[in-house]
Amino acid sequence: MMRDTIAAIATGSGRSAIGIVRLSGPDSLKGVERLFTPASGKPLSDYPPSSLVYGVLRDAEGRVIDRCLATYSLGPRSYTGEDTAELQCHGSPAVLHSALEALFSLGIRQAEAGEFTRRAFLNDRMDLTQAEAVIDLIDAETAAAARCAASQLGGSLRRRIEHIYDELVNLMAHFDVVLDYSDEDLDPFDESEITESVGKAAKELQQLAATYRRGRRLYDGVPCAIVGRPNSGKSSLLNALLGYDRAIVTDIPGTTRDTVEEKAEVGGVLLRLIDTAGLRDTEDTVERIGVERSRQALERAELALVLIDGAKEITQEDLDILHLAQNVPNVIVLSTKADEPDFTLPDLPQAIGFSSVTGEGMERLEREIAARFPEGGADSGEILTSQRQAQAIARAAECLQSVFDAMAMGMTPDAVLSDVELAMDALGEVIGRSVKEDVTQRIFDRFCVGK
Ligand code: GDP
Repeated sequence: MMRDTIAAIATGSGRSAIGIVRLSGPDSLKGVERLFTPASGKPLSDYPPSSLVYGVLRDAEGRVIDRCLATYSLGPRSYTGEDTAELQCHGSPAVLHSALEALFSLGIRQAEAGEFTRRAFLNDRMDLTQAEAVIDLIDAETAAAARCAASQLGGSLRRRIEHIYDELVNLMAHFDVVLDYSDEDLDPFDESEITESVGKAAKELQQLAATYRRGRRLYDGVPCAIVGRPNSGKSSLLNALLGYDRAIVTDIPGTTRDTVEEKAEVGGVLLRLIDTAGLRDTEDTVERIGVERSRQALERAELALVLIDGAKEITQEDLDILHLAQNVPNVIVLSTKADEPDFTLPDLPQAIGFSSVTGEGMERLEREIAARFPEGGADSGEILTSQRQAQAIARAAECLQSVFDAMAMGMTPDAVLSDVELAMDALGEVIGRSVKEDVTQRIFDRFCVGK
């Protein structure tokens, strides 16, 4: 299908050393050639694709916009699968907008959000999981999240799903042929083998769907509640983890009246930090809201950092908070203010001596967190990060499980066909393939019924 030519600034909105204007569509090269003259005097199209060529960029009236680099690729060997070009200019927003306006004056239009990647998908340069990985990679806030997206961009998830999908296409095609041409002599197929492979696929999809919770942590962060008595050092810890003064630190008990939520990477793991008001029973209604929120924060948390003021005697209140935190799957106890002269490490198992002032204990805290959430450091291309994908895969797993159960009970192919089809629809949604076409294609080119 012939599409129009689009252009957009591909780099960030502020000033930078280099800024890129990107084009895709049939007029990409022609458009750039109208505005850009290589220093050599030869036209850009005389250079082989992917050459980086230095020259002068002018607007349609011939006024110089920038001295910059240009390059082009020819479809289908390009990101979008179409002819593409790039202008690598100096990164001033004014320069980039002038370049873009000059292209618009030639009839090239502004690209919509995601349009380059959408074209790449429509031109079969990538499947849906890879297109989603592009967004995940751009949005990645930690090295671990970026690694996961990069691996998915490389097609790790697509290959895994395609493998199962293709087996189902075969199965469907076989069923269809058996049903439609039952009086003809076709390869006999071994039902127990099929039952077994369906069961295996169901299990594999179930396992994949179950990785979503961990995958989400890579992007949303592990919900982490920082709890402790007023003045135990919660806000100070939060600030130390964030590296700037996000929470107001005071020495008046109970000043953290609201909860604040921030993301921080600690030990390679993205944490969603929830600072809480002191967990105290109080008559103050404003504080009551805070206390209630603290309890709620602990309920939602997967990690609790319990702070106990090491410069003071341990109190019943400290123990009550520790007790409340025991319902959270991961608890780390920090004995704070380790820099104070009257600091003593309390007699609690695995309490870490910690100081927000000197940074003592920070490395140990990072190690403890990294050990508890290992996927934060893993090359996790096999972890689902999109809810859309996770739901579709779980649905496919369910359908295949019921196919497996039915076949194990001796049901005939026609009784399970619709569930196989539902499973394929769900998987097709994940990678962006359409079942009807694929099955039809396979019937015609593999089974050669040819009538
Ligand atoms: P919160 O009420 O639990 O949030 O506690 P804050 O973080 O507001 O700290 C209460 C008081 O303890 C403040 O005066 C802080 O300066 C002090 N403080 C917090 N952490 C440390 C620490 O590691 N060492 C020392 N010496 N003082 C600290």
